[in-house]
Amino acid sequence: MITIKIPQSVLEEMKQKARDVSKKSYNCYSKFSAGAAVLDDKNKIYSACIIENASFGLTSCAERNAIYKMISEGSENLKAMVVYTPTSKPITPCGACLQVIHEFNPETPVYCFCDSHEIADNTLSDLLPHAFGLKRKGENENEIQRG
Ligand code: ZN
Repeated sequence: MITIKIPQSVLEEMKQKARDVSKKSYNCYSKFSAGAAVLDDKNKIYSACIIENASFGLTSCAERNAIYKMISEGSENLKAMVVYTPTSKPITPCGACLQVIHEFNPETPVYCFCDSHEIADNTLSDLLPHAFGLKRKGENENEIQRG
């Protein structure tokens, strides 16, 4: 259950950015489009699309790309994620993306929407209740030192 409240106007802006960026999907193999937008603790939005590769295992989902964009721009504090797919039912992130979301906030609210009015809103811990994780810097004495 989502307990973090994201203002409706911010959520709408994230949805628009996710929808817009999905049109940039590099999806020549599957033809499956997807866009994601993440919000950091400073209310900055980062969006990205799916990027496929002829070596299919190298394909990177929109969700991970949006997080990597946020990290590469200097923010690590993931506050929320929105995922858009041009489908009739909302589609939640794949397992790899759930694990990456977990890395940056195990309680991330994840809003998945599509071309119908249906929306799937869950926290990351709802979607991946037993995620693999090591304690990050500042969490305990076994912390991982990061750059
Ligand atoms: Zn994924």
